[in-house]
Amino acid sequence: MKIVVCIKQVPDTKNGVVFNPDGTLNRGAMDKVMNPDDKAGLEVALQIKEKTGAEITVVSMGIPDADTVIREAFAMGADKGVLITDRVLGGADTWATSSTIAAGIRNLDYDLIITGRQAIDGDTAQVGPQIAEHLGIPVISYAANVEVEGDYVKVDRQYDDRMHKLKVKMPCLVTALSETTTPRYMTPGGIFDAYDEKEVTVWGRADLKDLDDANIGLAGSPTKIAKASDKVRKGAGEKVNLDPTASVSYIMDKLTEKHVI
Ligand SMILES: Cc1cc2nc3c(=O)[nH]c(=O)nc-3n(C[C@H](O)[C@H](O)[C@H](O)COP(=O)(O)OP(=O)(O)OC[C@H]3O[C@@H](n4cnc5c(N)ncnc54)[C@H](O)[C@@H]3O)c2cc1C
Repeated sequence: MKIVVCIKQVPDTKNGVVFNPDGTLNRGAMDKVMNPDDKAGLEVALQIKEKTGAEITVVSMGIPDADTVIREAFAMGADKGVLITDRVLGGADTWATSSTIAAGIRNLDYDLIITGRQAIDGDTAQVGPQIAEHLGIPVISYAANVEVEGDYVKVDRQYDDRMHKLKVKMPCLVTALSETTTPRYMTPGGIFDAYDEKEVTVWGRADLKDLDDANIGLAGSPTKIAKASDKVRKGAGEKVNLDPTASVSYIMDKLTEKHVI
């Protein structure tokens, strides 16, 4: 069995987000980490590997620095890694990103593709389902549990208020939630091997067949981010000190005034 896990290197938002004056993300001013949903997706793949002997290839599209997240994946237990990097691919929106990653995956054998539900920087949750669409395979999103049974993948799909149990024939794509599972730590031996023994395969534009230049990079991105900024915090709210009966009518008047009721 062959599993492809898509991994994005993202700015670490634990200590807040740093913006440039023009509203774009100042990636250089922030540490970079493996996207949390992707780390959980990799852990899902590693657990399947333990049961089935599957081979795991991680794929990342990004700047050459994204080599680091691929080596982190090696140190966790991934077998192979592909970095898709080329200046002409920069500035991609989700359409161009998914078109490019799908073209890369077409170069690989796969039964199961795992992506994260969403990346913590772009936050769109579009890339996984879009890759499936480009490849013409089914997708199950919001996977809280993933098991392999013969040629099928069984997934518990998590919603806010309910769960779906789904079974789909491979090849298929699953998007994993960071809550799905706790990722393992890198092992010391794995870290040495990741840098001394393993090679990251690097693909540029020329290595990606079946990909239209109209669908790559900034020029091939229909979505432009006009501005990004921190959310403006709401005020402290209004405090009143009334008896219970007067409180009810006060609240009802406010709701009516705001056309809530
Ligand atoms: C603040 C902000 C807002 C944005 N809003 C939009 C928008 O509304 N529309 C739009 O088209 N673009 C938007 N973008 C651009 C978007 O971030 C990029 O297109 C990005 O390459 C992929 O989208 P995402 O981060 O939302 O990924 P998501 O769709 O949230 O990612 C889902 C999963 O896809 C996989 N994946 C995504 N990117 C990669 C990668 N480079 N390599 C490997 N795996 C990957 C990962 O497994 C990830 O968990 C925005 C960017 C920023 C910084």
